[in-house]
Amino acid sequence: MSIEFKKVSFSYHKGTPLERKALQDISLSLEPGEWKAVVGHTGSGKSTLAQLCNALLLAEEGEVRKDGRTYGSLNKKELRCLRREVGLVFQYPEQQFFAETVEEEISFAPKNWGMPPKDIPHKVAEVLKKVGFPEALRSRSPFALSGGQKRRVAIASVLAGDPEYLVLDEPTTGLDARGRRELLLLLQSLKCRGIGILHITHDLDVALSWCDRILVLDRGKSVARGTPGEILQSLDTQPVRGLVLPPVAELSRLLRQKGLALPLTNDVREILSFYGVNS
Ligand code: ADP
Repeated sequence: MSIEFKKVSFSYHKGTPLERKALQDISLSLEPGEWKAVVGHTGSGKSTLAQLCNALLLAEEGEVRKDGRTYGSLNKKELRCLRREVGLVFQYPEQQFFAETVEEEISFAPKNWGMPPKDIPHKVAEVLKKVGFPEALRSRSPFALSGGQKRRVAIASVLAGDPEYLVLDEPTTGLDARGRRELLLLLQSLKCRGIGILHITHDLDVALSWCDRILVLDRGKSVARGTPGEILQSLDTQPVRGLVLPPVAELSRLLRQKGLALPLTNDVREILSFYGVNS
């Protein structure tokens, strides 16, 4: 059980004067219950990779597979099922919304997948609870919600299809510090329930602090992969264009450069404990 990319390449407008290579030779796997970040500068191919994951785009070279089945070999019905199993949450929730109320927005997926109408209100309540969205607001327009609430509804509407994997394109964009933390805690709880999460972000701090593994893209190519600790080591010796170390990691890097035997870390508690300060 996994999603696998094997040497995947993709170009936009292939064979035309506007041809643009977006991804080259990307290999990747995502397991159930794994939270993987894909980080990179704007234009590095992150959104393209997200769309390849749920077959909105199909690989031009190489293969994307889920549970051993190549996306390119699936018929229309199978692709529809795949898009349910691998839910894509767009960068801007408004790109996803179309209904007049939160309830209708979330009901769409279960209705579409053939759930008996009597079970749908229960499903809506279940996913709203999962994402921590107030029941009292279910008759509101999804367009009239705050940024954090919109994001929760967008995730709830994908969760209503009972996906095995969630692919989120820049889910923390536009959220304040509290909204960001709440969203990350929500993703952590989904991961604990066994959902595999592919988290597209330009925010290295989020990737280093929350994710299990990280893939770094630059100009459509994979330039580093590994655990947060491994990626930190790699960026210390081989910086990647447009990726700036978060403040705590940068501080530990600078102190090490000054000769302190401090660990290279993005965790402020590690730095405090090095100086004998209990946090
Ligand atoms: P990121 O999400 O990291 O910003 P994208 O996947 O959006 O990167 O883009 C990768 C490359 O593909 C960029 O050079 C971008 O200009 C190009 N690209 C993305 N979408 C399209 C499109 N619809 N048509 C043509 N080129 C595109």
